[in-house]
Amino acid sequence: MHCPRCDGTRVRVVDSRTARGGRAIRRRRECADCGERFTTYESVEERTIQVLKRSGAAEEFDRQKLIRSVRVACAKRPISASEIEHIVDQIEDEVFKMARVEIPSELIGAMVMERLKSRDHVAYVRFASVYRNFQDIDEFYDELQQLRQKREREQAAKNQVELPL
Ligand SMILES: [Zn+2]
Repeated sequence: MHCPRCDGTRVRVVDSRTARGGRAIRRRRECADCGERFTTYESVEERTIQVLKRSGAAEEFDRQKLIRSVRVACAKRPISASEIEHIVDQIEDEVFKMARVEIPSELIGAMVMERLKSRDHVAYVRFASVYRNFQDIDEFYDELQQLRQKREREQAAKNQVELPL
């Protein structure tokens, strides 16, 4: 296995575990020459999972594409690249465990939202606005209001603690 960055051959495995619901082995590798870390998969050659889009079109489940869309939602938020990878790992695992040939894109969107919601509200709303297909602008506004009220309540609770009476 050559390093994808410097083409060096002194690459060692730093972590190895199962992925995709036990159908694959995921290995984190590190290049001794340039320090680059990358991931490889060893898996049984098998059918792919089709993601069914709202338009009715289907496309192959693409891990990199999912990482890119989560990355966009997390831009300039305090979420590291490895956290994003971890989120996508979990989703990929769940998707493959379902043992279905086709999965609606909404379902994958919901999995991402579920994880972002507890992690970062801004990233969650960004992602949700694209994927959840809000019925109308009011619904989107309600969602934002709820988040704002929650933040205000948290802020108020914090101020109460900080202000000596
Ligand atoms: Zn290298």
